[in-house]
Amino acid sequence: MHYDVIVVGAGSAGCALAARLAENPHRSVLLLEAGPDYPDLDRLPAELKYHSHEAASQAQAPHNWSFVNTPVSQQSRTAPTPRGKVVGGSSAINHMIFLRGMPEDFESWAALGNDAWSYSQVLPYFRALETDLDRHDDFHGTTGPIPVRRHPRATWHPWQEAFYQACLAADFPEDPDMNHPQATGVGALPLNNPHDIRMSTALAYLQPNRHRLNLSIRGNALVRRIVFDGTRATGVAVDSGGERFVLEADEIILCAGAVSSPHLLLLSGLGPAAHLRAHGIPVVRDVPGVGHNLRNHPSVGIRARAADGVVLDPEAPRNQVSLRCTAQGSAARNDLQITPTSTNPLYDTSREFRIGCRVELPVGAGRLSLASTDPHVQPIIAYDSLQEPHDRERLREAVRLAAALLRHTAFQGIIAARLAPTEPVLASDAALDAWLLQTAGNAHHTSGTCKMGPTSDPMAVVDQYGLVHGIQGLRVVEASIMPNVTRSNTNATTIMMAERVAAWLR
Ligand SMILES: Cc1cc2nc3c(=O)[nH]c(=O)nc-3n(C[C@H](O)[C@H](O)[C@H](O)COP(=O)(O)OP(=O)(O)OC[C@H]3O[C@@H](n4cnc5c(N)ncnc54)[C@H](O)[C@@H]3O)c2cc1C
Repeated sequence: MHYDVIVVGAGSAGCALAARLAENPHRSVLLLEAGPDYPDLDRLPAELKYHSHEAASQAQAPHNWSFVNTPVSQQSRTAPTPRGKVVGGSSAINHMIFLRGMPEDFESWAALGNDAWSYSQVLPYFRALETDLDRHDDFHGTTGPIPVRRHPRATWHPWQEAFYQACLAADFPEDPDMNHPQATGVGALPLNNPHDIRMSTALAYLQPNRHRLNLSIRGNALVRRIVFDGTRATGVAVDSGGERFVLEADEIILCAGAVSSPHLLLLSGLGPAAHLRAHGIPVVRDVPGVGHNLRNHPSVGIRARAADGVVLDPEAPRNQVSLRCTAQGSAARNDLQITPTSTNPLYDTSREFRIGCRVELPVGAGRLSLASTDPHVQPIIAYDSLQEPHDRERLREAVRLAAALLRHTAFQGIIAARLAPTEPVLASDAALDAWLLQTAGNAHHTSGTCKMGPTSDPMAVVDQYGLVHGIQGLRVVEASIMPNVTRSNTNATTIMMAERVAAWLR
């Protein structure tokens, strides 16, 4: 079988890219996905369909790869790294916060030699991917596939309303539009779940394009490795239904996500040569950066017990408002994000409210590497996120700020007590650091493991068009090519990247 393009992985980027490429009826596109395909809303399992369900991202859930990170240095805790395994990918199991990266994020990508990714260059693609149901101006789209809305204030849970009031009382500005380039302060989160349906890229991008006869979508097809003729990628080896196939294409585009794309490159002989040889993998090309620059947002939750009588509704939205602010003395605007959430009594009977605190632009980065040559064995995911003193310092500040907000009178009758961290822990930098190292994990924003950059950067894996350096016919397009994680959740930016590359290929 020979196609013009094979897209590997039907996630946020893969669905968007395949749908856009198939708009050209003369191009044959094959989209391969390791997880199942539910071709319409009626057949979509409830946990993928409805916004309030967290079942989809629970460890060992059927549409979750359920990766686990490896403990590193001072952080002895293993934590889950959920990733979607279904047509729709992580956009089919995520929390639906639809925040864009900040203008400065994209300017920094451009400054690293990727001048096609400056804010002015990417803004048209953020607009193209969305229909913002609330905002109609130069910064928002009105005709794109992903619908975006915010919960009106009158519908906020008292816990969210109290947080909002506490932020205003602490002099943080109101943020009426968190996707505005100047946005900062506290506001209603943009969400891609109108009518409480999680609008994955499978629903938003693939569904309207499934009739196209030049677009083939195959679920339950695990790509084992890329096939090369010298340094040209010519196809992929795939397991499907207990049989093995080799499929060919003029161009292979990896959209397998920031864990599985570098994993596939390594299994296929593209990566640090010594690491490949140690695993007995023939080296197609020495690409030292594959798996390095593993980025994410170090995160920790402050825990408070709900007051008696406060109802925790399993159907209620988990996220409605959020605060973004800048750490003291930091040059990076909005490098802290603080978000109130509630536990879902279906999965957690603790009756707790949490305030998620995270560092948006961490200095620290980890590494992903091979554990085995078996494609079914997950790679080693070593985030090492709190090794940097500056990251710990900012996370301490975020935690202390969240604890201070919780003392505001608006929370009376809503929370009974803060459970963790305790006052003595809050009072001491050393004790708070120890608590962070014990309890902090990462947001689900894994990125950076095949970073883009010019050939002058020896750790760049792809150029700014997603083409793997030194290889023909092979691109990577998704969260792994971000040079650094954005100051935001990563779904909207990942879809934007697919739109951007699709425009080049059109
Ligand atoms: C639980 C959770 C909550 C999140 N919440 C939010 C949020 O609220 N807002 C936000 O902006 N971001 C959120 N994120 C992050 C965001 O969803 C991801 O950054 C984004 O979806 C990544 O897109 P991607 O295209 O890089 O990868 P993915 O969407 O993960 O797609 C990769 C696809 O490739 C497939 N694949 C992998 N390996 C193979 C193979 N060998 N063969 C065939 N197919 C393969 C996978 O099954 C998957 O479908 C969340 C993520 C998770 C997991």
